[in-house]
Amino acid sequence: TKITIAIDGYSSTGKSTVAKQIANYLGYVYVDSGAMYRAVTLYAVQNNMISPEHFNKQKLIDALDDIHLFFKFNPKKGFAEMYLNDKNVEKAIRTMAISNLVSKVAATPEVRKKLVQYQRQMGENEGVVMDGRDIGTVVFPEADLKIFMTASAETRARRRYDELKERGDDVSFEEVLKNVQDRDHIDTNRKDSPLIKAEDAVEIDNSNLSLEDQFNTVLNLVKK
Ligand code: C5P
Repeated sequence: TKITIAIDGYSSTGKSTVAKQIANYLGYVYVDSGAMYRAVTLYAVQNNMISPEHFNKQKLIDALDDIHLFFKFNPKKGFAEMYLNDKNVEKAIRTMAISNLVSKVAATPEVRKKLVQYQRQMGENEGVVMDGRDIGTVVFPEADLKIFMTASAETRARRRYDELKERGDDVSFEEVLKNVQDRDHIDTNRKDSPLIKAEDAVEIDNSNLSLEDQFNTVLNLVKK
């Protein structure tokens, strides 16, 4: 029988890398819930609802019905890419500009309500690995396996910095570290769905674990 796997944790803990590998190995669907919050943020940026200086929350709330999100599997990449109103936004949602605003958008209860509903629908198919912040606590409190990934802020910022550099983004390590710390703060202190470890989640600190070690650790938990 297929199970539901929830993987939560702070930003850039490498949740998605492990989640994708496990999903592909088991033949499950992988859902990146952070991509959905990022896509809503991109929509808000494109429609002048948010910038570093302002956030017109009400305008975004009023427009929520116009935001259509879906994932489409890309066989070349081996994972599903994010589409916003029929456009592939996989690349556009990963910029620093979006990373700097997404936690503010994600702190809007109306946005969370819409996305949680959508995430639950996607989980109705059997065999799902979903990663995020509140998957084990809010989206799927009955998940069969819950993982909580941690690593030091410096370790996470270093990984994210290397990724952005590889893509050719012009960022400094300090800027990336600050973004990681800011998002940790907002994600932890959100009122209606703060980032906390579910009681029945297994914590994995991957600061010193290779990708292979992480994969094997999670796979052993799946087999239990
Ligand atoms: O996982 P990722 O870092 O791409 O998520 C981007 C942001 O979206 C997080 O910093 C958090 O503010 C928000 N998020 C959330 N709930 C989730 C997934 C992401 O609030 N389940």
